[in-house]
Amino acid sequence: MTDTRIWLSPPDVSDLERKLLLKAFDSNWVAPVGPDLDAFESQVAELVGVRHAVALSSGTAALHLALIAAGVRRGDTVLVPSFTFAATANAVVYLGARPVFVDSAPESWNIDPELVAEELRLRAEQGRLPRAVIAVDMYGQCADYDRLLDACDRYGVPLIEDAAEALGATYRDRPAGSFGLAGVLSFNGNKIITTGGGGMLVTDDSRVAKHARHLATQAREPVPHYEHRMVGYNYRLSNLLAAVGRGQVQRLPQMIEARTATFEYYRAALAGMEFMPVAGYGTPNHWLTCVLATDERQRDRILGVLNGRDIEARPAWKPMHLQPVFQDCVMRGGPVAADIFRRGVCLPSGSALSAHDRSRVVAAVRAALEA
Ligand SMILES: *Cc1c(COP(=O)(O)O)cnc(C)c1O
Repeated sequence: MTDTRIWLSPPDVSDLERKLLLKAFDSNWVAPVGPDLDAFESQVAELVGVRHAVALSSGTAALHLALIAAGVRRGDTVLVPSFTFAATANAVVYLGARPVFVDSAPESWNIDPELVAEELRLRAEQGRLPRAVIAVDMYGQCADYDRLLDACDRYGVPLIEDAAEALGATYRDRPAGSFGLAGVLSFNGNKIITTGGGGMLVTDDSRVAKHARHLATQAREPVPHYEHRMVGYNYRLSNLLAAVGRGQVQRLPQMIEARTATFEYYRAALAGMEFMPVAGYGTPNHWLTCVLATDERQRDRILGVLNGRDIEARPAWKPMHLQPVFQDCVMRGGPVAADIFRRGVCLPSGSALSAHDRSRVVAAVRAALEA
């Protein structure tokens, strides 16, 4: 058997998804809406434990609509973790608002609730509260929602949960995506489940869901002659892709199990290394397993050896406050996120990763540590 390239987090699709996709195709429910879209939304709403789900073309679209629901407008500020994927901050800028970046808490790598509380207190005193706070459930582990919601509720600032990476994770036995005004999910190709590309806005608030659905379908009024009272977007997910999603959701428990087994395997086999901490308050879905090298040089050595053996690994997210595009934005704290970036390596974590390939990854990391 010759070794093939190991990807970081490739799609894991089966015969079930194929059958559902072809069934949708053959029934001519190709676009735009259809029974698979409705069924996919109900499945995910039930899984997340919320009343409403709106399937969209991407997680970024869901973020955009969630921020509109929170009332974000031109000139506003929004607190955003610096340690995230750019999409989180980009959606703020789409609305003409400015992100204010906040450092991570070392115990979870998620937005630091202490810094959020402090920033809200300072801004309340100055009469310039942010319009919203976004928390991200990084690499499939929830942020600390008791403390975040406590701070947000005190000042009446809505919280949005970017759970793009965290479907199936929990915080104090409550599912990721169910916190705050609205939750955001992604079904991009590298996420825990995929529709090839897609996302969802999940919420308990029927007005938020209704408005998101309206804006996502070009804000067409329900009359035959194309009446529009506001500017909308073309953000709905296609029924064909929702059919793929229906199969993926059914397989989510096994996929989380597989990723968790990979995490446990790496942790045992690389026992000398520091791993992303698991906070005591919940159960991550272990979307990506991330380790910390001792320094930047060792990180680059690990990445180099893995790449040389045809294994895809990546540095941890480069923090937003260090990105050229956001260099003029305010940053609160910063050393935690910057250190994770300098030393962090995300290891292949796909749910279809074989035992053989897992051991190839470990052998490569060990070789790099001994070099
Ligand atoms: C993937 C991701 C998004 C964006 O989702 P898309 O479906 O790719 O638009 C947003 N936030 C985070 C944290 C992500 O990882």
